[in-house]
Amino acid sequence: MTKTDPMVELGFPIEDAKPPEGCEVCRELVVQREAAAERGDATKVIDCNVEIRSHHEPTVTWAEQ
Ligand SMILES: [Zn+2]
Repeated sequence: MTKTDPMVELGFPIEDAKPPEGCEVCRELVVQREAAAERGDATKVIDCNVEIRSHHEPTVTWAEQ
C-alpha cells in the first residue's frame, strides 16, 4: 500500500512571513515553523506565520523606535 498524503505535500496556502533581522522572538518562531513544516504540521506553520506577522505590524515602523 503506497498511499501518499496530498495534504503534506500540498504546500501551504499562505506564504511564509518574513521576520526582521535581529528579533529573537521571530527567529524562534521561524525555527518552530521549520520544524512544523518538516513534520507536515500545516496548522502550526500558519500559527507561526500569524505570530510573526502580528509581532511586527506592517503599518508600524519597527526599524526606528
Ligand atoms: Zn519579532
